[in-house]
Amino acid sequence: MTELYDTDVLVIGAGPAGAILADVLARQGIRVTLVERATSAERSFRGETVSALSVKIMKDLGYGERLRESGYLPLEGIAFREDGKELLSADYRRFPIGQLPIDMPQPQLLGVAIDAARSATDFKFLPGTQFLSLIEEGDVVKGAVLRRAGGEAYEVRARLTVGCDGRFSRVRKLSGLEAKVTPMPRDFLWFKLPRPDNWQQTSQLVVSSDRHLVILPTWPDLLRVGYNVPKGGFGDQRQKGIEAFHDGIAALDPRLADLVREHVTSWNDVSLLDIFTAELDEWARDGLLLIGDSSHTVTPILGQGVNLAIQDAICFAPVIYHAITEGTETVPAAAMRAVMAERRKHKAMITSFQRMQEANLAQHTRFGTFLRRLKMRFLHNSPVKYKVLNRTLNAPHGLRSSEEYVSLLERLIPISTPVTSVTPSPQPVKPASAAFEDAVNVNAA
Ligand SMILES: Cc1cc2nc3c(=O)[nH]c(=O)nc-3n(C[C@H](O)[C@H](O)[C@H](O)COP(=O)(O)OP(=O)(O)OC[C@H]3O[C@@H](n4cnc5c(N)ncnc54)[C@H](O)[C@@H]3O)c2cc1C
Repeated sequence: MTELYDTDVLVIGAGPAGAILADVLARQGIRVTLVERATSAERSFRGETVSALSVKIMKDLGYGERLRESGYLPLEGIAFREDGKELLSADYRRFPIGQLPIDMPQPQLLGVAIDAARSATDFKFLPGTQFLSLIEEGDVVKGAVLRRAGGEAYEVRARLTVGCDGRFSRVRKLSGLEAKVTPMPRDFLWFKLPRPDNWQQTSQLVVSSDRHLVILPTWPDLLRVGYNVPKGGFGDQRQKGIEAFHDGIAALDPRLADLVREHVTSWNDVSLLDIFTAELDEWARDGLLLIGDSSHTVTPILGQGVNLAIQDAICFAPVIYHAITEGTETVPAAAMRAVMAERRKHKAMITSFQRMQEANLAQHTRFGTFLRRLKMRFLHNSPVKYKVLNRTLNAPHGLRSSEEYVSLLERLIPISTPVTSVTPSPQPVKPASAAFEDAVNVNAA
C-alpha cells in the first residue's frame, strides 16, 4: 500500500453534511479532501426539504445565485388532514423567521456546495472512492485507507477525519463509537408522481386510523409521497401485488388514486426507507469526528435530516478551523465536545418530538384517534401555534447571530463567479450536479 498524500481534514461522504463541511473549511483556507464512493450525485429518494433556517445559512454561505440557477420550489405551508378533513394548517409566510423553506433535489444542492468548494485552491474531491478503514496510532486516528473503484487501496493521512457517510456509517462502525439503534415500528415506501396543476405548495400529512401518507411538493413539478407500512411489511405489500398498493393509497387519499395507478406501475417505482433512530453519546475521538446521519439518525417526520446535517457542518466548522490553524498535529476530541453537547441536545429534541408524533400517528382505537384529532384542532386554534412550529422546524434560533458564525462568514473566500453568469455564452449551461461527473473525469485523467 502506497501513501498517496496528506491533508488537514479528510471528509468521508459527500452528502449534505460532508459537502457543506468540506466547502466551509476549504474556503477558509484549510486543506480538505472530500471522498465519495458514488460516481454520480443521483439519488432519487433522499431528504429534499430544506428548512427556512438552512436556506438562510446557504444564502449566508453565498449559494443564493447558484441555488436559483439550479432550481428549487418554495414551500408555502403545512397541513394535517384526517379522513378527508383538514384539522391543522400553517402558513410559512407567518413564521417569524421571514424565509420560506424550499424543496430541492439533493444532486443540485450537493453540486452547488462542491462547486463552491472549488473556489479554494486546497480542495480535492474524489468521487468513486470508497472509505475502507481508519489509520490508527494508539488511540489516535491519523487518516483513512481508501480505494478508487477497480484500483488499489491507499492511505490518506489527516489531522482530522470526519465521518459523514450516512445512516449506515462504516466510519462509525470501525471507530468503536457505539450507537444505540432503535427500530421504529413502521417503515416508509417512497414514490414520485406528477404534481397536478392546482396542487398547493404545501407539505401534507394525510391520516386515516394508523395509516398515513406524507405528500411533499417537489421540484420541478412532482409530488414525493411516503406511505407507511408495518416494519418489514414491504414483502407483504409485494406479495399482495401492486393493485393492492394502489388501492391502499387511493383509500387514504382519493386525490392520488388515478395518478398512482398511472405512474407507479411496478415495484421499481417504489423505494423502501427502513426507519430507525441511531443515537451516540460520543461523536468524537482524537483525530475523528462523526456528523450528520452518522452521528445521529433521525426519522423522516418533519423532514429534518438534511437540515440537521447542514447545521452540524456549520456548527463544527469554527472549532475545526481553530484547532487546525493553531497548528495542532491532531484535532483532539476535547476541542469538539462543547459543540457536540449542543448538537446532541438539539437532535435529541427533534428525535423525541418525532417519537411523540409517531406514537400519535400509530393510534387506531376510537379513543386514540379522537384524542389525536383533538390535539390537532387544539394546536390549530392555539395562539402559540406559530411559535411551537417555528421552534421545532427552525431551532436553534441563536446559531446565525453567534459570534463564531459571523467570524466564519467573514473568513470565507467568495465563490468564484460562474463563467456563464458573467458572459452570456452560446454553450449550454452545465447543471450544478455535473460537479460529480467533472471530478470523475479529472480524477480519472
Ligand atoms: C430513501 C430515503 C428517503 C429519505 N427521505 C427523507 C425525507 O423525506 N426527509 C428528510 O429529512 N430526510 C430524508 N432522508 C434522510 C436524509 O436524506 C438524510 O438525513 C440526509 O441526507 C443526511 O445527510 P448526511 O450527509 O449525513 O448523509 P447522506 O446524505 O446519507 O450522505 C452520506 C454519503 O456518504 C457516502 N458514503 C457512504 N459510505 C461510504 C464509504 N464507505 N466511502 C465513501 N463514501 C461513502 C454515501 O454515498 C453518501 O453520498 C431520506 C433518506 C433516504 C435514504
